[in-house]
Amino acid sequence: MASARFEQGKYSDWTVHKIKEYSLHPGAHIFHYASGCFEGLKAHRGTDDSARIFRLDAHADRLVESAKMLCLPPPPESLTIEMVEAVVKANRDEIPDPPGSLYLRPTLIGTEVNIGAAAHPPVSGEFFVIASPVGDYFAGGKRPLRILIEEETRRSTAAFGMAKAGANYVSALRTVVAAHEDLGADQVLFAPDGLVEETGATNFLLVDDESVVTAPLTDAYLHGVTRDSTLTLARDLGYRVEERPLTVDEVLSWEGEAALCGTAAVLTGVGTFIHKGEEITVGNGEVGTNTMRLQEALTEIHVGKAEDPHGWVRIV
Ligand SMILES: *Cc1c(COP(=O)(O)O)cnc(C)c1O
Repeated sequence: MASARFEQGKYSDWTVHKIKEYSLHPGAHIFHYASGCFEGLKAHRGTDDSARIFRLDAHADRLVESAKMLCLPPPPESLTIEMVEAVVKANRDEIPDPPGSLYLRPTLIGTEVNIGAAAHPPVSGEFFVIASPVGDYFAGGKRPLRILIEEETRRSTAAFGMAKAGANYVSALRTVVAAHEDLGADQVLFAPDGLVEETGATNFLLVDDESVVTAPLTDAYLHGVTRDSTLTLARDLGYRVEERPLTVDEVLSWEGEAALCGTAAVLTGVGTFIHKGEEITVGNGEVGTNTMRLQEALTEIHVGKAEDPHGWVRIV
């Protein structure tokens, strides 16, 4: 792992070292006031055995935005980039062969010991990057997902939804857990007032032979790097890309495919929507061919089987 401290808004020099446990005072800010945000990205083993980090710059940029939203000192992009590169180099031998990868988790937390600090940002904290080998997210082939469409509850709030923060996950968790326990749903697509936003942990796309349709970015939900990469590749492949308000009615009457997108699982097809007690099959209920085509276009760039026309991969 790599770690750095911040004190009075300034970052210390970082070091790379064996994984260690933190000893934190029970009064640390993160425990009480959720002053934490993070990133999630991957390094892939290339077909030529190189270590390839996907879209590190975009993730470093987003961490800056999340930190600002949480009033934490934004780690300079160069700091995040150096620390992630160092962790990938140190764990080079641990990067699994594709479809596995090395998952990287830069994390920023407030550690000031002051329970009275509810109304001011923590003056001290830790910034660290940890790594873990991950297998194919869906070993044994991709199973089409069951997704509950939820119109009553919001995943997050206006403005804060853009922050990649634990607080955003835990605020959606109750809804996601209930959907799983009561309906066997894999995830929840939040669509407050009938307008689609995203699921508890991924963005959402409609796909068919000609087009890719997704909701426009607002400050109420996370701006996914996978979403951006998929839309870019879809344009390259000749799909018409539409970013526009997406209603639940349109999703339910869509004749093509639907997919979730995020770093962990890349693109995952939806087989069934659950809406107001009814089950609606998407297409033929299987993961669609356009979804698979876009997924493959992305993973070929990850591992260097295809060219990287947008300069997304950093080889270390
Ligand atoms: C991380 C995340 C995503 C996906 O973003 P990627 O950059 O594509 O991994 C989507 N929604 C939420 C809430 C997230 O935290």
